[in-house]
Amino acid sequence: MNIALIAHDRKKKLMIELTTAYREILKEHTLYATGTTGLRIIEETGLAVHRFKSGPLGGDQQIGALISEDKIDMVIFLRDPLAAQPHEPDVTALIRLSDVYEIPLATNIGTGEILLRGLGAGFADWRTITNEVETKILDI
Ligand code: PGA
Repeated sequence: MNIALIAHDRKKKLMIELTTAYREILKEHTLYATGTTGLRIIEETGLAVHRFKSGPLGGDQQIGALISEDKIDMVIFLRDPLAAQPHEPDVTALIRLSDVYEIPLATNIGTGEILLRGLGAGFADWRTITNEVETKILDI
């Protein structure tokens, strides 16, 4: 499954803690991240991560583009609700697209932990099934 990981600056430490704690589950999946978040995860957990541009430089939009193609199965976006972001429109767009495509989305570590436990337990497997059905429909 394709998992997107993004954390605003004051949430990056939490993201490292989360990805370290759930490393065994995450290593079974394909991970995508915005630039700095991805670098920190790679350096501190050893997980393999496909990195996009840094969020303020378009990374959120790059991940949003994948969501619009239904290629992302889960998003963990540890956003900072107490700091204004220069790229707030991109953040809003990414969250909106996750809702458009019914992608499981966590915006804080509490929900993030539940999503990752659910991922490990197979609760997100329906994504694989709907992707297969859509692929078949497109093939017809
Ligand atoms: P970053 O971007 O991982 O490059 O810091 C995250 C964001 O601010 O969207």
